[in-house]
Amino acid sequence: MASEQTKMLPQGKVTNEDTEMSSEKKMENEITKMLPEKEMANEETKIVLEGESADGETNILLKKESANGETKLYCMDSGDGPYSYARCSCSQKDLVDAATKEMENEDTKMQEKEMTNGKTKMLMDKEISNGETYHMNSGDGPYSYAKYSSYQKAIVDAAKKMLVEAISDNLDINNPSFGSSNTLRIADMGCSVGPNAFIAVQNIVEAVTLKYQSMQQNPQALEFHVFFNDHVANDFNALFRSLPPSRPYFAVGVPGSFHGRLFPKSSLHIVHSSYALHWLSKVPKEVMEINFLGLKNRRNYSTADEVLEVFSRQYKRDMQSFLTARAQELVGGGLMVLLVVGMQNGAIFSQTCSGMVFNLFGSCLMDMANVGLVSNEKVYSFHFPLYYTTPKELGALIETNGYFNIEKIEILARPVEHESPDYRICSFHLRAAMEGLVEEHFGKEIVEDLFERYTNKLEENSFIFDEEYRKETHLFVFLRRKITEYSSEEKPEAEIGSEE
Ligand code: SAH
Repeated sequence: MASEQTKMLPQGKVTNEDTEMSSEKKMENEITKMLPEKEMANEETKIVLEGESADGETNILLKKESANGETKLYCMDSGDGPYSYARCSCSQKDLVDAATKEMENEDTKMQEKEMTNGKTKMLMDKEISNGETYHMNSGDGPYSYAKYSSYQKAIVDAAKKMLVEAISDNLDINNPSFGSSNTLRIADMGCSVGPNAFIAVQNIVEAVTLKYQSMQQNPQALEFHVFFNDHVANDFNALFRSLPPSRPYFAVGVPGSFHGRLFPKSSLHIVHSSYALHWLSKVPKEVMEINFLGLKNRRNYSTADEVLEVFSRQYKRDMQSFLTARAQELVGGGLMVLLVVGMQNGAIFSQTCSGMVFNLFGSCLMDMANVGLVSNEKVYSFHFPLYYTTPKELGALIETNGYFNIEKIEILARPVEHESPDYRICSFHLRAAMEGLVEEHFGKEIVEDLFERYTNKLEENSFIFDEEYRKETHLFVFLRRKITEYSSEEKPEAEIGSEE
């Protein structure tokens, strides 16, 4: 049994019982030196080997021998779970403690390693506890963001002409902050896994190059450094894998929330963000209180007035943090292009197509609660951390922040859609963006059923796509960082990596 399993181990480090034995002996000796005697009294659990797996991860192999002579090998993988290398490399004792306890109590939680394409993969429940769990679906699977983000792509495309014009009008290549070095630094905030971020960045690079050419400057001398930012939970590996092979820039991934500082002071020249700023840093906790005050009985999904008011306050706080952080990071005269999902001035969210889409989604959850598939409490405590602003509200927020001149706020033409929407595809679009959040709150089990119900609801309520409800807008916002240095007395600085 043991040798059967050891054959599946990575890198040929443990490919037969002989090497296993000698490695085990060696590790045991080391552990004996390190751990108090009582730890070693547990004969059943032993570290077998510390080594590198075929996929380049550093792993710890742990062996458990049960009373009936069965042997299991576990692979301690990366991440920050109880078996993670991050933990065990801090202290071997922690690892043994954590793994032994976990194996005794929750043996079933742990799934044995699998061979996938010749790579060893350890599957286990992973949790990210810093509130940054949500991310778009990665990869190129059936519900991936890469496949179902054509709507967002259409917005990036629709903005291209305005972007080129605005850069041409506002990029001051004689500004010493731009001219002093030949490197132009661009950041895309909320890039997801591609491909839209690449298109947006390409548009910016082309626009800057055109501007240099128009000024009889040699754009060849210019090099572009592009920073792709998203939450830590974003699949940056998928993003890197899909980077255009021949790209006119050097690419960097920057993990962390754009509601806090992510870059050194005065280091960026152009900031871009599309379809991301309607994500709040969190669901405001007051929303839960409102629900417990009885709102849940007549609850429309996140669109009741009281709820919207609370979300609006959170949006104001988040935008202040975003703008203040970017003001610190951009050079004086630096540019910011924001493509923001919002709605027309005066529109009522619950009467827009998007508002109704979320209500329908909520009603599917309520249906599932009614037949006992999820608990009512789970449903009441679930909100998408999203907010749709208006041009008026956003303009006022930027004015209040004070660090930027508003060069342009315009409503983009709505992307052309098919005459009759394909409800399944509409459902896939929401799923590509929201599945992670749903799964985190309700668990994996309900996902298929929920999205199936949701597709059907969309079909039954197809009127929501009628023109009269299409009050969502996509805003093109072009800002220029004021040249005067900000004063830290005047306004509080955004904290590095802060979420608030
Ligand atoms: N810009 C891309 C992706 C839009 S999807 C496009 O136009 O297609 C929105 C992205 O914003 C998601 O990947 C989400 O994880 C990210 N996002 C939301 N809030 C964020 C935050 N506070 N910090 C960084 N990224 C964030």
